[in-house]
Amino acid sequence: MTAAKRIDGKAKAAQLTESITRETATLLAEHGIKPGLAVVIIGKDPASQVYVRNKRRTAESCGFHSVQHSLDADALQPDVLALIHQLNSDDAIHGILVQLPLPEHLDEQLITQAISPSKDVDGFHFINIGKLTAGLTADAFVPCTPAGCMLMIQDEIGNDLSGKNAVVIGRSNIVGKPMASLLLQANATVTVAHSRTKNLPGVVAAADIVVAAVGRPDMVKADWVKPGAVVIDVGINRVEKMIDGEKKMGLTGDVDFDDVGTVAGAVTPVPGGVGPMTISMLMANTLRSARLAAGLEA
Ligand code: NAD
Repeated sequence: MTAAKRIDGKAKAAQLTESITRETATLLAEHGIKPGLAVVIIGKDPASQVYVRNKRRTAESCGFHSVQHSLDADALQPDVLALIHQLNSDDAIHGILVQLPLPEHLDEQLITQAISPSKDVDGFHFINIGKLTAGLTADAFVPCTPAGCMLMIQDEIGNDLSGKNAVVIGRSNIVGKPMASLLLQANATVTVAHSRTKNLPGVVAAADIVVAAVGRPDMVKADWVKPGAVVIDVGINRVEKMIDGEKKMGLTGDVDFDDVGTVAGAVTPVPGGVGPMTISMLMANTLRSARLAAGLEA
């Protein structure tokens, strides 16, 4: 059996970031506009700190105006909302991101829905969700993780997924559901599986495209997967792993990479797959927002 292609998300993300950096320089030179990204982080969740640092570094390397607002874990809801309103009306800011999860006392819906849809580069606002579901993505923001997955799928199979069966495992609002909408828009026949799905291996067996977004280490096995399928692993799980002959905490996905790699046509690794693409898509959304605000995009 031949080994599957390892889809190098890190290299693809680097390419994308390079082209965003070039377009950003052109936007500044020709129109005097610098895309601005504001990241709001509340509390000290260690994983969130790492994500925010990576987003900020990438924004700076793209040549963006990048600001970070770090609020204490006990920040009051009116103060968070006031900050979002202030960023909504700041012309130097084109993208606003509130890093999730939020401390328990804060209302995630109220806060994410307070972000202006035109600056909602995470694509969580109901207006953007509605536009995506309706297939009207010309001026909508698509959530970054599924958008990145879609680029990787289309790089493997082509833009038109007519006749392809896609199975998305997971039905969250930030990954599973928007992923299903994007696949449907590209003409795939889409099944969304979740924790209540019966016979998940049987459902996955029919898929030419599998997207796993569950949060269960190494759940998807080779004997679930159709030979030649494209398998995209969104999961990020912290597990004990043998690294350089020592037991250490490391990251693993929802897909058993080595096992599935014996059957699939192409698989994304974790780390180095979906994660870096997610950050690049955030930059792409922010650049697009700046261009849309200036009337430079349809
Ligand atoms: P979530 O917890 O909101 O959703 C998980 C989904 O998995 C649910 O819809 C649930 O029904 C389904 N599920 C749970 N157990 C199942 C089972 N046994 N069989 C089938 N389905 C099952 O999670 P999420 O926010 O969608 O994230 C999913 C994973 O992706 C997590 O590991 C998360 O860390 C990761 N993630 C990665 C990125 C990235 O950039 N790489 C971005 C977002 C999320």
